[in-house]
Amino acid sequence: MTDGQSLLLLFVALYFIECLRWLPPRSLLLTGSGERWSGRRPFQPVKLAGRCPVLLGLLPPQQAHLITLSWQLIPAEAGLEMHLDDRRPLLLPWEQVKPVADGRTLHLSPQMQVRWPLETQAAHACQQVRQWLAMTHQEREADFLEHARRTLEAAPLTAQAADLTSRTHWLRHLGSFIFIWTFGVLVVLYRWLGDGQEVLWAAAALLALQLSQAVLFFRQARTLPHRFWKALMVALLPQHAMRATDLLCDVPSPVPAHPLAGRPLIGDEAWKKIACQMWKKARFQPSATTRLQCLVLETWLEKEGLPISEIEAPPQQQTGSALYCPSCQSQFKDGTQTCLDCGGIPLRPFASV
Ligand SMILES: [Zn+2]
Repeated sequence: MTDGQSLLLLFVALYFIECLRWLPPRSLLLTGSGERWSGRRPFQPVKLAGRCPVLLGLLPPQQAHLITLSWQLIPAEAGLEMHLDDRRPLLLPWEQVKPVADGRTLHLSPQMQVRWPLETQAAHACQQVRQWLAMTHQEREADFLEHARRTLEAAPLTAQAADLTSRTHWLRHLGSFIFIWTFGVLVVLYRWLGDGQEVLWAAAALLALQLSQAVLFFRQARTLPHRFWKALMVALLPQHAMRATDLLCDVPSPVPAHPLAGRPLIGDEAWKKIACQMWKKARFQPSATTRLQCLVLETWLEKEGLPISEIEAPPQQQTGSALYCPSCQSQFKDGTQTCLDCGGIPLRPFASV
């Protein structure tokens, strides 16, 4: 392998690392700009220190991103329920709950940690749990309902998406151009001309592009901590220059929006699919907070024009089947009681016509 090839391989690896995010398993990463956004879930089979990997868009055009997150902590009568991934939630008795925030991690007990996308969010969750400890069960439920309703509001998320779209406009375009210059123009020139003078000029042009990107970034990142050092990285390292938009997208916010709040961004069809999955999980997954979760979601989904009767509508009846599972919609012959695939959910009979 020549020096040039090794350098290219190194750049590709660094770029790939730059595109990788490690998020709490129940996050939904929204990527896009303007009116076009789409959702990506972290890859749950791979987990490192409570976080799972998710890739931002690798190829140009560069996109902005927003991180949304389902409720991770829900107060139950007997303790604090933790919804960390798609498996059954865990319950920590109230007397064992000792919240301490450390960076993006909230320690609830020596064995129990909950991860958050941002430090500000872990600190806010810590404060909220401390308040719950001092409350009665009714007060905790009322506080959670209020919190849950706020995270479902679409307006703050839509406003954030519009703000990011306009602030990252030139950063995204120049980032895409730097990508094409580094992995396209420079590579072709190197293969064609070897270590010639022209390649050196192209590399100098890359540095000039990075410097321009750093200036653009510095002007847009006024509220970002350590903006000078981040701008310096953008100026000196091509992978940071390509992905400068991402640095601007980690906006410090105390409470992450709920994935369902992204309806105006991801569109009705994708939203409905996620809404159905989330309702079924809340309704049918064994949990000490089923009633509380369903209370928030049912009211909110009805208001959004998606009644529960539509989500739980029976499937098209196949010949020979008499019952169906309201969660996975599988059909069963008479005599079966529960759906084992869904953890023993009681089956429903098809309404006789
Ligand atoms: Zn089922």
